[in-house]
Amino acid sequence: MDIIRLLPDSVANQIAAGEVIQRPASCLKELVENSLDAGARSIRVLVRDAGKTLIQVTDDGSGMSVSDARMAFERHATSKISNAQDLFHLRTMGFRGEALPSICAVAQVKMTTRRANDEMGTQLEIAGSQVLNQEPCQCAAGTTIQVQNLFFNVPARRRFLKSDQTELRNLITTFQHIVLVYPEVAFTFASDDEILYDLPVGTHKQRIEGVFGKSKSKLYTAQLLEIEQQTELVTIHGFVGKPESASKQAAQFFFVNGRYMRHPYFHKAVLQAYAGMLPSEQLPPYFIYFDIAPEQIDVNVHPTKTEIKFADEQSIFPILMATVRAALGKFNVVPSIDFLGGDVEMPVSDENMRAGAKAPELHLSSGYNPFSQPRNAVQPKERVTPHWQDLYEPLRREQQSIVMPEPVQDELPQIQTKESVLHPQALAGGYISCVVPEGLLLVHARRAHVTILYHQLLAQLQIHRGVSQQLLFAEPLTLSAEEQPVLEALLPELRYIGFELEKVSADTYDITAMPSVLGNQSAETSLRAILARSADSPSDLQADMQQRIALTLAQSAAIPTGKNMSEAEMSDLLEKLFALPSSRITPDGKTVAVLLSAEDIARRF
Ligand code: ADP
Ligand code: MG
Repeated sequence: MDIIRLLPDSVANQIAAGEVIQRPASCLKELVENSLDAGARSIRVLVRDAGKTLIQVTDDGSGMSVSDARMAFERHATSKISNAQDLFHLRTMGFRGEALPSICAVAQVKMTTRRANDEMGTQLEIAGSQVLNQEPCQCAAGTTIQVQNLFFNVPARRRFLKSDQTELRNLITTFQHIVLVYPEVAFTFASDDEILYDLPVGTHKQRIEGVFGKSKSKLYTAQLLEIEQQTELVTIHGFVGKPESASKQAAQFFFVNGRYMRHPYFHKAVLQAYAGMLPSEQLPPYFIYFDIAPEQIDVNVHPTKTEIKFADEQSIFPILMATVRAALGKFNVVPSIDFLGGDVEMPVSDENMRAGAKAPELHLSSGYNPFSQPRNAVQPKERVTPHWQDLYEPLRREQQSIVMPEPVQDELPQIQTKESVLHPQALAGGYISCVVPEGLLLVHARRAHVTILYHQLLAQLQIHRGVSQQLLFAEPLTLSAEEQPVLEALLPELRYIGFELEKVSADTYDITAMPSVLGNQSAETSLRAILARSADSPSDLQADMQQRIALTLAQSAAIPTGKNMSEAEMSDLLEKLFALPSSRITPDGKTVAVLLSAEDIARRF
């Protein structure tokens, strides 16, 4: 006797549902994506009991004909692809024709739908894959789908659901992932008659504000910098937070071709762009959208999976990092000078910069240019190489003329003149206190100095203009076999910053000059510290090497904790600190300054 049988559709659908519809949130995702695929301009979501008793999605999209409405619930019925080739050019969210049949296999579903040109709509009721009823009805153009009692016929699944609180959070997260991509579509989300989101059509930034403005600070979007980069391979746009907006639970979102994704590798690229700018354990918010030819990503990803495979991740990594870095640079958070390659394209000269009233553009080196678009680089002959401080002057002046957003919690006041820093006083333990218009400021003197030196040194490194001092007597540096390759790799950077080394034997160098910032410190000790730090966390990225060198030298050269300082020295230190784009933390994430606002002080009395 033959024993192989085809499964009845209802069973096959239930099995498929196990994969596609795991919880209310996956059901919501499928319904809203269908509405978007149907060209809806307005989508309303209503859930009850965290979606366990009702998930309803109403749209003003294309609607369906009487027979399409019926077809939609058949397995592998889809209007979106017709052959395998279409799979590689997908621009719609759905394509498997699996969602509706899966949902109706495990819930009681009611759908009303009408195309704009049809007089009457159609209403369809299905439960557990059985069509109970279909009849004409009066209804608005578009589609409403009600999913009631999810998993009513699969008790095991129902039991597997988490608390209402958790499931509602999942629903909201899913909703956020979608609405952040479609600011041109209006959305509402109501849970048990409470409207949680009411998002009108707007810009991307307004949508982010609409989603996060309430829970985070009002100034949330003022903290976001726009990013934008077009290459042949990928287009990247979106927003990243200024370093001071970093927090332990930052909103971080990647999207590719309109779909939310997780991407730990690209996440690293973003974090690298912030290297040295964030307090430890704090993360910047980001909303980054990739557009890429569909054939460059794996389309056949499972509907519930959010990790998406890119064909050419390694090429996108530096593009992404540079793009974020450029945005931070434009805001003057980091010097917007070359940071990846060897050759430096200088910003245009002073006059041009002021005439154009904008910060110098980032020019990537010719040797390592991940961008395929030509950029308006200055011709090598006309290149101007002003002293590095000159580069900062126009930027600094420009920054002073910009009306800064109101200070948000934790951000240091922008202090612009010496006069506004009143009578700095030394406190025991190496702190400086001073009164500023915003309150009482406490500054860790050594960390402030480290931060200032770090930024100076990094700038010198980036334009290969370290200030060097010759040593009266060469200091010998003898290296172990492990240290030698580390030093070799660092040699060009070390020269840029002002070290001069001569190889005298297989394992020994003579140090004949060193960065003058080191004063009377030992050149050998500083070099060994750089070698040790570089050996600990090896990296071939020039930006990493430069940051490490700058940090090590800054730490060697900075004043020791608790050093006596005159009032003039303290004022000078504070003034330099406040001229920095990010003065709140050291490059290695330690707190530099704390501001006690009038309210903070009042609270203590
Ligand atoms: P897929 O989205 O993968 O095509 P679904 O099972 O989600 O599969 O939907 C099946 C079909 O039903 C879709 O291809 C589409 O033609 C139609 N459909 C589903 N939802 C809507 C909607 N809200 N408005 C118009 N058509 C819809
Ligand atoms: Mg679908």
